[in-house]
Formats: sequence, C-alpha cells, structure tokens
Amino acid sequence: MKFAKRMSRLGTETAFEVLAQVNALKAEGRDIASFSIGEPDFDTPENIREAAKRALDEGYTHYTPSAGLQDLRKVLAEEVNRTRGTDYDVENVVVTPGAKPIMFFGILALVDEGDDVIYPNPGFPIYESMIDFVGANAVPLPLEEEHAFSFDVERLEALVSEKTQLLIINSPQNPTGGVVPPESLERVAKLAQKYDFWVFSDEIYSRLVYDGDFQSITQFEGMADRTVILDGHSKTYAMTGWRLGYGAMPVRLAEGVARLMTNSNSCTAAFTQVAGGEAVTGPQDKAEEMKQTFHQRRDLIVDGLNAIDGITCLRPAGAFYVWPNVTEVCANLGLPDSKALQNYLLYEAGVAVLGRQCFGRRADDEDQEYVRFSYAASTEAINEGLRRIEEAGADKERAAKFWKSQG
Ligand code: PLP
Repeated sequence: MKFAKRMSRLGTETAFEVLAQVNALKAEGRDIASFSIGEPDFDTPENIREAAKRALDEGYTHYTPSAGLQDLRKVLAEEVNRTRGTDYDVENVVVTPGAKPIMFFGILALVDEGDDVIYPNPGFPIYESMIDFVGANAVPLPLEEEHAFSFDVERLEALVSEKTQLLIINSPQNPTGGVVPPESLERVAKLAQKYDFWVFSDEIYSRLVYDGDFQSITQFEGMADRTVILDGHSKTYAMTGWRLGYGAMPVRLAEGVARLMTNSNSCTAAFTQVAGGEAVTGPQDKAEEMKQTFHQRRDLIVDGLNAIDGITCLRPAGAFYVWPNVTEVCANLGLPDSKALQNYLLYEAGVAVLGRQCFGRRADDEDQEYVRFSYAASTEAINEGLRRIEEAGADKERAAKFWKSQG
C-alpha cells in the first residue's frame, strides 16, 4: 500500500527517541542523569492548577472558537504588547494546543512548494522537518560559536534572494541558549522589508533571558505586519503537558491559521485555556522563581563543563540549554562525532545528552562537535552528571571498547 510522497519528507524531534531510550534504561534499573528533554522539572504553579479545576466545575468542557476564547486572546494580546511594544488586538492572536502548531500552521499558511525558507542551524528540528514537508527549499543559516551562537547578518543577506519567502529566527535559542542581539534584529528587520519576506519569530523562551532584557524583532517599525510571533506556556509556566501555546500575527494570517485549527483540532481544550489566562494575569512569583533557579543552574553547569578536560562551554544568555564544544573530548576518546559521544555517555556513563545530529542537517564544512544539555534538571543531577562525564571523558580504554562494540 502506498503512502503520500510528502510523508517521506517529514522529519522528527529525536529528543523524544532519546527520552524513550532513557526510559527503557531506567526500566532496566539503570540510574540515568538526564539532560535530554527540554522541559522544566517543576510542577505547574498551584494557582494555575486550581484555575483549571474551577474551570472544569464551571463547565469549560465544550468546544471554544477555533482561534481561542475571546478573554484569553485579549489577555495574550495585551501581554505581547506589554513585552514587545506592539499594538495587537484580539484578532491578531490564535491559541493552539502547545506552541508547535503555530510553527506547523504558520509554515503551511505562508510557504509554497519551491519557496526558500532560511532557518537557524543548529536549530529546533521541526523547522527543517516542516520546510521539507511543504516541499520548500530549506536554506540553513549557520549559528556559530564565534557569534555567541547568533548569526552573521552579512552571511544571512548572502542567502536571501527573490525566492526567499520566510526567515525563521529563534531567540533565546534551542539548542544553543544563544540570544540574537538587538543590533542584528534591527538589521534583519531592514532586510525583511528590503527583500519583502516574512519573519517567523520563535519566542517560546522569551521569559528566560538571564543577561539583559528580551528583545523581539516586532519592536522595529513595520515588522508586526510581516512577523509571526510564536510563544506559549510550556516553558514559562512549566505547562508542557497541558498543551497551550499561541501566535500573534497580522489579522488575515491569523484568520488563515484559525481556519487550519478548525480543520485539524477544532480548538484548544477549554479548561486549559482558562488556566492559561490565570497563568498570565495571576501572580508571577513562581515563574520568576523558576527563572532564578535556571539562572543558578546555568552557572553551575557552565562552570562544571569548563572544568572538564577537552570541553569548552560558552555562557549562553537564555533558555535552559548549553551547547558545549566537545570536539577535543571526542578526539581524545577516539569517537568520530557527537552522536557517538551521545551514545557513549548514555550507555557507558548513564548521562543523557543530545548530539549535533538532533538539530538539523550538518553543513559540509562543519568541523566542530557539540552536544546539548538541557539544564532543566536538579542541582544533584547536574553535579552527578558532571562527575560521570569527567570520569568517562578520561577513560580512553572504555571508549575504545564501546566504539568497537558498536561495530
Ligand atoms: N519552539 C522551540 C524552540 C522549542 O524548543 C519548543 C519546545 O521544545 C517549542 C517551540 C514547542 O513548544 P510546545 O511544547 O509549547 O509546543
């Protein structure tokens, strides 16, 4: 039986596969220090949980409009305006089950087969997957260590052509934790207007900036008319399992995205939406506490990684990821790349991280190796993980044996 051709172009998020490996090892009784999955290790704050329970009792158990409850869209428009200086109204906001559908629907609504889409690489794997899926040309924009894992705007301009329909940016960034400086955002805004392309600004980590303030490209003149902002509750309020996200965008596009919602999910769960309103309008002390904890953990893991032979790690300004350079430790251990290191660390040391291959296709000239740590893990897990990496990183014999066993 045949499948549609487009299915062969659909990628995935391998973090979920590694999570399955981690769970299988745990089920065998292995103790794994896990830094693989990008979700806060905290419970959703109580006021949000209570709001959901009340909403269920009050009958928020039915369909809502596809674009979301009017009250929530209003709250979200105000929140985006307050934090980005935009002038959005209810009609500009679409609520979705998690933020990922904004990516899926945004790309479906904006990109035709044969268009060029420029996207960050390394980057969230779903960008590349979706670009391939719709039959567009995926044009990687390298994020480099020498630019603190932002990008060179001149290099970006060299990639732009009349075929460019969309540029994806993500700041703070997954997997590097890097932040695009405001000077670069301003230059990108000028390019978008000069060459007339859309910008998809993935701002899911907007509330997790440790050095300086969060900056959105929509603050620049004219950009709100050609930008889709993606944001959501998963990371800020530890609500990954609730599935609540949203997009802010020009009204005509919002209508299209809402129609895609009608065609797929109908709407986001009603009581989840009510709880999402409480998250934004209620006390922010828990979200702030989580951020302070992530900040401390960032410093702990960066200092710890830099103390290990063969590893160097920048101190990223946001999100809850670090992207250390592991080229030397791979070479010391005789491992060919970060994927081999990922497997060595998982199976031999009991430490779960994600290698470079999980974050988009490699460029031919790429010669450095990196792995991603999500430091949404306890201080004890971080300390224990660092200890195990140091030990495994110095054990050439064990690495050679492991690599041989892999055939
Ligand atoms: N964008 C980026 C860069 C992410 O890292 C994630 C989640 O890992 C998302 C979007 C999706 O978030 P959600 O879980 O709300 O769909």
